[in-house]
Formats: sequence, structure tokens, C-alpha cells
Amino acid sequence: MQIIDVHVHLNYYNNRNQGQDIPSLQNRLEFLLANMRTYNIDYSLILTSYIVNSNRPPTSDIIKIVNKNKISNKVGIVASYTISNNDFNNLTKYKTWIKNGIIKGIKIYCGYEYYYPNDKRYQPIYDLCIEYKIPVMIHTGDTYSPKGKIKYSHPLNVDEIAVDNPNLNIVICHLGNPWILDCQEVIYKNKNVYADISGLVEGNFNKYNQRWYGVRINEMLEYIGKPHRLLFGSDWPISNMNSYLNFVENLKLDNESIEFLMGKNAQKIFHT
Ligand SMILES: [Zn+2]
Repeated sequence: MQIIDVHVHLNYYNNRNQGQDIPSLQNRLEFLLANMRTYNIDYSLILTSYIVNSNRPPTSDIIKIVNKNKISNKVGIVASYTISNNDFNNLTKYKTWIKNGIIKGIKIYCGYEYYYPNDKRYQPIYDLCIEYKIPVMIHTGDTYSPKGKIKYSHPLNVDEIAVDNPNLNIVICHLGNPWILDCQEVIYKNKNVYADISGLVEGNFNKYNQRWYGVRINEMLEYIGKPHRLLFGSDWPISNMNSYLNFVENLKLDNESIEFLMGKNAQKIFHT
């Protein structure tokens, strides 16, 4: 079985060591590959950011470095699409990327950017995803930054675009945490909606939140029924892959549910 982490970043988040050099993109990529080797992750999807700066490389840089290292069998890219930075002028660029096969999905950052998923300016990218049969990933729930506005990132907002775009596969990122129950209903009701379990904790799970999230995910699986539509994702390097794998092991799921979670669902929608 291929194990797929659908949610990792090559952004550099550690601003605590002020004055220290930011590791190069090549170093960060090698660190990702080393982690994947250590923890037996076969394939990862690298999500690019809605902002571009020295810590957060643009999608074009990630494409270049993946090509240069010849690792398209190990990683794919999910390209961010932002309204604030006028990506709606760049649709041709996205089309070319998707046709070339390296872009496996598109990510939008509702909450970080102050737009609802049903904003008309997102529709062209949904149409593109439908045309090329790739999913759109939507940030939901808490924002890692206090500047985020969480009314835009509530998972219930996803219901409307799921209904209006029945042929669009949608991935709710982070289970809509803390609105996990709302996320659960949106997945249950809409067969074109999936969710990744990434980013529930910073660093490692502890005894308390491992139990807390474990109960919620098991309830969710029971409610949705089989086959479920959850995807394994860590949000590395914000969360540790190892701790995430332990967390999944502690969910004590049956083999079939594990297979869908760890790879089958991702293979189906991202065509990895
Ligand atoms: Zn993330």
C-alpha cells in the first residue's frame, strides 16, 4: 500500500532564531525527503502558500526544484490560488501547470484571505479543477495567524460550493478544526467532499489531545459510514510526521479504513 501525506509545506516557519540564516529550499526539500524515508511515507503533496516571501517560495520555484531533483515519483505539488494577489489574471499559467502533470490540485486559503469559498472569483479555478479532474483544497477552521478571520474558514461554507459544483472534488483541510462536527455533516451529505486530518496540533500530539481528536475522528467515521473520505495529512513541518503516524495507529481502525485513509482516497482524487 502506498502511504501518502497529502499536506506538507516547504515554507520556513521558524522565526524564533532571529538573525539565523533561513535554510535553502534545497535543504528544506532534502529534510522533507529524509523525514519521508525515516517514517516510510511513499509520496507527499507540497502545498504552496498564498503569500510569497523569502520564507515562502512561489509555486514556480517548487516546480523547478522538484524537476531538478527528479523526484516527481515522490512528491507532487498543490498550487495555491489567491484572490488578493490577483491570480485570476494567471489562469493560463495554472492550465499549463496542470496539463504538465506536476500540479495535482489547487489550494485556496479562506480565512487567511478574507473571502468565502463561494466568492465568484474562485469559480474559474473550480471550473478548471472540474475540467482536469483535480481537487480543490480549502483551508478551514482555525488560522495559524491571529490576522485570519475565521468566519471565512468555517467548514459549513464548503457545503454551498459542493452542492453547486457536484463534479468538483473538494478537500476540507484540518477537519474544519475546531468545527469538526460541522465538517462531519458536510462530508456525510456531499459525496464529492473529502477532508484531511492535518494540522490538528503543533509539533506532537500529547496524551490529552490524542484522545480528544481520536474520539472525534472515530465518531466521524461511524457517522459517515464506509467507505469514508478522510485523507492522511500531517501539515509537516508544523506537525511532526512521526507523531501523526502514532496518532493514526492509536485510532485503532480496521484495515479497510486505514487503507482508504493512508493512500487509497488520495490516489483516487489526486491521481498520484
Ligand atoms: Zn498547511
